[in-house]
Amino acid sequence: MTMVITGNSTLQTEVEDLCDVNMDACIQCGTCTGGCSGIELMEYGPRQIIQLIKLNQRKILLDSRAIWMCVSCHICEDRCPAKIKTTSLMDTLREMACVESTTKSNEQIQFHKLYIKQVKAFGRSHESMLTMALTLKGTPLPPLKLMKDLITRMRVDIKPPHRPDKSYRLAIKRVEKGGSKGHGK
Ligand code: SF4
Ligand code: SF4
Repeated sequence: MTMVITGNSTLQTEVEDLCDVNMDACIQCGTCTGGCSGIELMEYGPRQIIQLIKLNQRKILLDSRAIWMCVSCHICEDRCPAKIKTTSLMDTLREMACVESTTKSNEQIQFHKLYIKQVKAFGRSHESMLTMALTLKGTPLPPLKLMKDLITRMRVDIKPPHRPDKSYRLAIKRVEKGGSKGHGK
């Protein structure tokens, strides 16, 4: 039987404020975990993550691998009977981990920061530039054969990225001004 925790923890209030998700609506049905694309690589599924937030398990969550194994596929959200925005929740936990995690040097955090930087600059991630940036930070290059295959099959773009138009740049500025609350830098 699944225990449903009631009453707000500090972490719950903080996460809810950042991502506008009401975790008290979660009925712990487990539908999210049942369809989760990343579950095999997560030590806690999305249902457990909500319970851990309610139990104020900040360190366990922010140092966990689970928050980085979420691929933002939105399946959990689409299927949730309580309409919990789990994808936004996971995003918020990742942003918090970038600031607070005690495993700061880990590759996921480095990748996340570079990825977000590129999306802000170009409107999307640019795989070959991302690979080079990660290599400069100490992550070994992928095997040469794999790189060659990805390039010749046009799975990886090697052309320089386009600069997004003014409206995109203004939108990013607005988000940075209004919504960072100290995270995501
Ligand atoms: S599907 Fe929704 S209600 Fe069910 S456990 Fe997951 S978040 Fe909670
Ligand atoms: S968005 Fe993340 S948590 Fe939700 S189903 Fe996809 S991988 Fe799992």
